[in-house]
Amino acid sequence: MQTSTFCGRERLQLGAFPTPLQRLDNLSREFGREVWVKRDDMSGVALGGNKVRKLEFLLHDALKNGYDCVITTGGAQSNHAMITAACCNRLGLGAYLVLMGRGVTERRGNLLLNDLLGAQVSFVDSDDFEVVYAAIDALAERLRAAGKKPYIIPLGASVPLGALGYVSCVAEIAAQAQEAGLGVDHIVGCCGSCGTYAGLLVGALRYLPAARVSGIIVGAVSGAEQIAADMARDTAALAGIPFGAEQAAQIRLFDYQGAGYAIPSPAGNRAIGKMAALEGLFLDPVYTGKTFAGLLDLHEQGYFAPGESIVFLHSGGAATLFAIDF
Ligand SMILES: *Cc1c(COP(=O)(O)O)cnc(C)c1O
Repeated sequence: MQTSTFCGRERLQLGAFPTPLQRLDNLSREFGREVWVKRDDMSGVALGGNKVRKLEFLLHDALKNGYDCVITTGGAQSNHAMITAACCNRLGLGAYLVLMGRGVTERRGNLLLNDLLGAQVSFVDSDDFEVVYAAIDALAERLRAAGKKPYIIPLGASVPLGALGYVSCVAEIAAQAQEAGLGVDHIVGCCGSCGTYAGLLVGALRYLPAARVSGIIVGAVSGAEQIAADMARDTAALAGIPFGAEQAAQIRLFDYQGAGYAIPSPAGNRAIGKMAALEGLFLDPVYTGKTFAGLLDLHEQGYFAPGESIVFLHSGGAATLFAIDF
């Protein structure tokens, strides 16, 4: 597999990049401003989504260091776990998914896809991360005893090396926007386990310094503000981009999780319907629907100044449309 280097770090070319940056004509008309979408739902592995950019770095690290299987985690309907398993299949790595046994645990959505991919799925009857990571450590121990070398990828691949993927996403947006004659004033994306948001923020500092990056919290972790701030600082350090109090003050996070993580919200459901009706695009009930609901609400509140343009990050998630009732 081909590799490339970004910010001095090597990555695999697993995905289909650059993903398109498209104008949302009907939404732009309705808002009276430029609204564009970065199509990371088209990232080119399995059903696409934001985890591919992160896994390009992490799985390169795994292969380079001789690991032969991967353990990762997430909710029962984790997009991240499914995409990790898909990438592992391409690379000949075993995939072990230790999932939290909450929500939709039947063979639907991503669990159906995990089954097709042949991933080794186990459930932990808890949503306490300490319990989950203890189960991962125990599994890793068993695999090592059997002569395997497991590489552990934390929740959402949200570590600084993975977040570099979203620094590079902003480099793509900057080049595509320039080509299209678009000045980018705002980037709006989801903040789940925070790696995507941290990468977008740090990427904007270098590649689109005039843009403001707003993250919509969907409840995947508690204390997202602190996690995002720490991850942004560490990602900037890895990328060699200055990050102090002034940069930390640019963090803008808004909570639209509603009743909680992976619980569909009425506003999120309406936002999914609106995007489908206006632009023929499908969002999802866990991440991108709530994120778009946040964008719509911020627009209503006058958060975006007149004439300012918006790039919405479509981070994927299609599989849960067919698993979670909303
Ligand atoms: C994981 C995920 C997110 C959140 O990204 P983080 O880096 O975890 O914050 C957003 N959208 C979709 C579809 C995802 O699967």
